[in-house]
Order: sequence, then structure tokens, then C-alpha cells
Amino acid sequence: MKISRIEVFQVDLPFAGGVYTLSGGRSYESFDATIVRVATECGLEGWGESTPFGATYIAAHGRGVRAGIEEMAPTLIGLDPRKTDRLNDAMDAALVGHLHAKTPIDVACWDIFGKSVGMPVCDLLGGRVEGRVPVISSIHVEPPEAMRESVARHRAQGFLGHSIKVGAAEAEGGPALDAERIAACLADREPGEWYLVDANGGLSVEHALRMLGQLPSGLDFVLEAPCATWRETVSLRRRCKAPILWDELAQTEADIAQLIAEDAADGIGLKISKQGGLTRTRRQRDLCSAAGLVMSVQETTGSEIAFAAIVHMAQSVPTRLLRCALDTRSVIAKSTARFDAPVEKGGVVAPEGPGLGLEIDRSVLGAPVAVYGEGD
Ligand SMILES: [Mg+2]
Repeated sequence: MKISRIEVFQVDLPFAGGVYTLSGGRSYESFDATIVRVATECGLEGWGESTPFGATYIAAHGRGVRAGIEEMAPTLIGLDPRKTDRLNDAMDAALVGHLHAKTPIDVACWDIFGKSVGMPVCDLLGGRVEGRVPVISSIHVEPPEAMRESVARHRAQGFLGHSIKVGAAEAEGGPALDAERIAACLADREPGEWYLVDANGGLSVEHALRMLGQLPSGLDFVLEAPCATWRETVSLRRRCKAPILWDELAQTEADIAQLIAEDAADGIGLKISKQGGLTRTRRQRDLCSAAGLVMSVQETTGSEIAFAAIVHMAQSVPTRLLRCALDTRSVIAKSTARFDAPVEKGGVVAPEGPGLGLEIDRSVLGAPVAVYGEGD
């Protein structure tokens, strides 16, 4: 089986809630999605997506995804899409880094692999772990009571996890306001719920320690990505009791290996495009499993195509270490595909059909912005 053609589509995905606000005064209204179709000479096709969370989140942006694909795609025509590690070797040989550009091609090839053998991607990733994948909301920064109401709305929709964003500037209220936000969001906590307090690297160690020092005792949460650098995060970890999950700073297998060696993490937020696709996320899942680190499986953001990759990966994570998957559909107000995984009883289940289980809505994609190779 050989890759014959790679098509690239660009779609703007509006944020479902108007303006999404993060630490450091970052705000977003729409996200630049790159959707990739990989076709084979035997008539199979697979789909993948890479949607960076704007250009100010990690070192990734939408136009960079497409420029990276332009660099790599001609060298991938003729390769076997089922040999996913070798496909990633070929992408690495054509372009150093740029994991966000490699992801949609990698994911599309897993989709093809699944269709070629009549199996869902989660089974190819090691096998379906029975049970539902619990889903987590994304509660962006607002006044404390508005965030409490947002948690309540998501609870009513069946979300078991809640990711509480913090990172107030000193002038707007600083650590005290962040502490109020956390207390408000956890005020109505129900048994079985799991809370992340996520600063997206926006806090100094001083801010984080002041914030934690103003919280009522006994609140049950984990702290995610408190600081922008490795040194600050390790320093904070030595001086606070909250479990610490890494996110933006943990992107490669080498990062995970170093986190384990330094005992710097209690868990990792694995985002498919941040880690470089399903092939690399699978390796990182296994490193985390060996070290006993909990995992939440997420994406920078994205439509149903990105969510499908999340669900299949999360469905392959051992239950005792899985801490929620991000339902990107709750963040985005545009649909690119039908993906039959409704939120029920607090979670979702990966479809049983072959590949990712997507029915793409071609009318939303428009014409491709780039085409490599030949055929249909
Ligand atoms: Mg995070």
C-alpha cells in the first residue's frame, strides 16, 4: 500500500463562547485549523487535523502547520501509511521538529491503517480498554461566579472533569482573585469529579505560592502547567503539596523521560498535536504508564477530526491512569465531520467501526489549499 496524494484544507473554527481568555492577557475568538486528507493508490483515504490554540499558546501556528506539510509532503508520496514509525522517520528526515505539522499526516495514516484491516484505531494502539472515557470541560478565566456557573453548565451536560483556568494579573486581582476562582469552581463539587487548576504556564513561582496560600484547606485539585519554564515548575513542585501535571513543557519522548528521571511530575496532559501525532503519543503513553504518571488526553483545540484522535488514544490508556479527555467539540462552534461518540454517563466511547470512525463533511472544507502527489 502506498500514499498517492496528500490534500490540505484550511478552516476557521470559531470559539463557541465568544472570547476565550487565558493567563497573560491572551484571548482568542477563532482557531486556524489545518485538515489533511491522505489517499492511497488502492483507494483508501484517511483524515487528520492540527489546530494550534492561536499563535501565542505553544510554538505552533496554523500557517506553520501548512508550511511544514509543504516541506515534508513530496517525500512521503509512495510510502506505506501503515508503517507509522517509519512514516515518522521520513517526516523527521524532511523536517526537524514542527510536531504540529506532522500530526495531521500521522493521524490520517492511522485512520487508513484501521480501515485497511477493519479495526478501530484504539485497537491498533494496543487495544480498547473497556469503559467510558470521562470528558473534561475547559473553563476559561472570568469573574469567579461566572466560572462557577460555567462549571455547573458543563456538569449538567455530563462532564466529570473541569479544567479551571487561572492567571490573573496583579492589577486585576492577582493571586487572591485566582484563589477565589478556584474556590468558586470547587464550591459545588460532586463525588467523582476531577479538577485541574491550569495556568498554562502563566504564573511566577511567587504568584503560585501566594495563590495556594490563600485557598481554603481540603480542596481537591491538581495543578497543571503553573509556570513557563522547567526550572520554575520544579522549584514550585518542591515547595507545594498539590500534585503537579505538566502540559506545555512536555512535548517529546525525551521530555517525558527527563520528567520521570527527575521525579518532576505526577502526570502529563498529552495533547495529540503537541506530542506529534498518535505514533508519538502512544510512546509517551507507555512511558507514563511505566512510571505511574496519570494522563489526561487532550488537544490544543480542534473539531471532530481532532477529537476522534483524542478519543481513540484515551480509550487505550489504562483506566487507573486515565484522567479525562478534552471534548474539543464543546470549545468549537463549527462541525467538520460526524463522529458518533455522544457524552453519556460522564464520558464517551470510541466507535467500533474501522479507522477513526469519521464521516467528513466536505462542504465545510471547501477546496484544498494545497495538493501533493497524484490520483484522487
Ligand atoms: Mg493545560
